[in-house]
Amino acid sequence: RTTHFGYQEVAVEEKAGRVADVFHSVAAKYDVMNDLMSFGVHRLWKRITLERAGARPGHTVLDIAGGTGDLTLKFSRLVGPRGRVVLADINASMLNVGRDKLIDNGVGGNVEYVQANAEALPFPDNTFDIITIAFGLRNVTDQAKALRSMQRILKPGGRLLVLEFSKPVNPLLSTAYDQYSFRLLPKMGELVAGDADSYRYLAESIRMHPDQKTLAGMMEDAGLERVEYTNLTGGIVALHRGIKL
Ligand code: SAM
Repeated sequence: RTTHFGYQEVAVEEKAGRVADVFHSVAAKYDVMNDLMSFGVHRLWKRITLERAGARPGHTVLDIAGGTGDLTLKFSRLVGPRGRVVLADINASMLNVGRDKLIDNGVGGNVEYVQANAEALPFPDNTFDIITIAFGLRNVTDQAKALRSMQRILKPGGRLLVLEFSKPVNPLLSTAYDQYSFRLLPKMGELVAGDADSYRYLAESIRMHPDQKTLAGMMEDAGLERVEYTNLTGGIVALHRGIKL
């Protein structure tokens, strides 16, 4: 059986290792590259995700594929001392950068750090009020399995938010964005992070990722209900939300 790593066809067993190499390589420069590549707009995308998540004091939140913890940092303030936020990621390098950043920001007792694969989340059924996966699902090998795993550990009434690159709605924007991603991104990756290949993978993996409607269907197949999505920045990114009833 095969799957895709960017545009390359690879054995299913191979993808996770290739993805791991990418994030070990970029971890130290991840935050600065995010700001550069998105012109800071990823902050806005994340803010909208937080608004739609509706976290309240006392909530239990999972930020899976949470990486360097941007969402976790904000959630930890929103849920307060009676709440709990789990920052989970498969990659130890990303998790370490995230933990250092959160501690530097004075985040305290309500955050836990867990190394875990989104396909097999090590939590009991019905644990979380909110689960977020931001720019993570694209990198997961078996996305249907990951969505089912998230659905399982949501509490009834809990919500899953998937923030991910998607399909630009306007063909002109789409062309400009292609030029940017395939010409400029790898060059920026080379200059700033000394790594063009990881940023080529980024551009390719975005093109291979299911579009808005397909992802909504996958969430429904995983048992989520009232699935809806919002295009952000013309569909360059989409925020999907589903509820476990
Ligand atoms: N959520 C953060 C953000 O929005 O800035 C980080 C996103 S980063 C582009 C993608 C993250 O997904 C990486 O930290 C990577 O290690 C993680 N990841 C990839 N495959 C994963 C998997 N199967 N399970 C959990 N995390 C995974």
